[in-house]
Amino acid sequence: MSTSLHDHRLNVADLVDRPGASRRLDLSLSVPDGFEFPLTEVTAPLRLAAVIESVVDGLLVRGSLQARLSLCCARCLRPLARDIDVDVVELFVDPARATAEALTDLEPGYQVADDHIDVEALLRDALAQSAPYQPLCGEACQGLCGQCGADLNVAACGCGDKQLDPRWATLAQLRDRLPAEE
Ligand SMILES: [Zn+2]
Ligand SMILES: [Zn+2]
Repeated sequence: MSTSLHDHRLNVADLVDRPGASRRLDLSLSVPDGFEFPLTEVTAPLRLAAVIESVVDGLLVRGSLQARLSLCCARCLRPLARDIDVDVVELFVDPARATAEALTDLEPGYQVADDHIDVEALLRDALAQSAPYQPLCGEACQGLCGQCGADLNVAACGCGDKQLDPRWATLAQLRDRLPAEE
């Protein structure tokens, strides 16, 4: 069973300044506020299964993040669901103890503060990394017709047959505006 965490802050007082100590995490987490990605919605809850280990420079979180994404096919807009399982390896630097080198590499959101870490940045980064830029319902998706909007996976609409050379399109528009010949 995973433990629910209401915000994304995790108490790590038992691990701070105890290099070698570790603890297993199995957390059920809400989706970070305002997390947005094109054509993608993350379905709560997220699950973070990891080991958190106290190291010289801070705390190392190693494990995986699982989530279910609701997507739209980038070509035909059909709704899709996809389960992701992303590997996560992140160091939360403890400014009170870290070496100068670790401090120069410190990324915002990845530090130990008041015996807590906030896994929000970790969630955002892992999700952004795994959300597909161009989700497709299938490699062979035919998409929508650019002219009439018909779903070409369902049936051909015939627009392709009528396609005009773009040089003639302007002439055709002019012709359409003229009164029809008897
Ligand atoms: Zn599609
Ligand atoms: Zn069409």
